[in-house]
Amino acid sequence: MAVYKSKGIVLRSIRYGEADRILDLYTRDSGLVSAIAKGIRRTKSRFGGRLEPLSCVDFLAYEGRTLDTVTQVEVLRSFHGVRENLKRLKAAGGMISAVRALSGGDEADRRVFNLLYHALDALESRETDFDAVGSAFALKLSILAGYTPRLDACVSCERDLAEVTGEGPLYFAPPLGGVLCAGCRSPSREAGLVGDSFPLSPDTLAALQDLVVRPIREVAVEDGLEESVRRVVSAHVLAHAPGNASFAAPDRRTLRPA
Ligand SMILES: [Zn+2]
Repeated sequence: MAVYKSKGIVLRSIRYGEADRILDLYTRDSGLVSAIAKGIRRTKSRFGGRLEPLSCVDFLAYEGRTLDTVTQVEVLRSFHGVRENLKRLKAAGGMISAVRALSGGDEADRRVFNLLYHALDALESRETDFDAVGSAFALKLSILAGYTPRLDACVSCERDLAEVTGEGPLYFAPPLGGVLCAGCRSPSREAGLVGDSFPLSPDTLAALQDLVVRPIREVAVEDGLEESVRRVVSAHVLAHAPGNASFAAPDRRTLRPA
């Protein structure tokens, strides 16, 4: 059995049987991993409370046929400040959903691990604007996953958006991965290409462009735009999510309660 060591962030930690826990981790070196930690809930467990969701841990495990087995854990950062605040926790929950939706299989991407770590750090260290961190995270994650939204030009005619704003409203078209000008939207809609496209205000577009380029610690969304920004980001993620099918083989999934 291959033994390996990695850093990982606990995405989910669920009870299994009398004393065990099944963990989903996003690891720095192996991407998404499901593992069992045995004996964890016994009072003298060597794991103690170290496997709370969102914790960033250094762990040692050996590979198994259906699940890996965690044998040692050391907490690097518990992020308890995120877990103990409902608004922060909600934003973190959205981030975890985005990771599940956009990260396929066992492919390791250290940039995803680092982005998740820095996003949790940003949530814990600030007092407001948690939604901005959640939206920025999902947007940046979609770019790392290869689904960069087109926010500078119309996805159809490729004209610069600054040039076409006088011609009518802009639209965000999730299946096309970007913005459509008014002139291109009607023919695209008739061709059945735009899905649930919806109008996009210039202010929301500017806020999205800013989230893409700004470091996650510094992101902010102007008051009143949070909802429209979140709508674009979640539609974009959903349109490009390959689903969770590639995350876990069926035999792994049966171990998880729905
Ligand atoms: Zn166009």
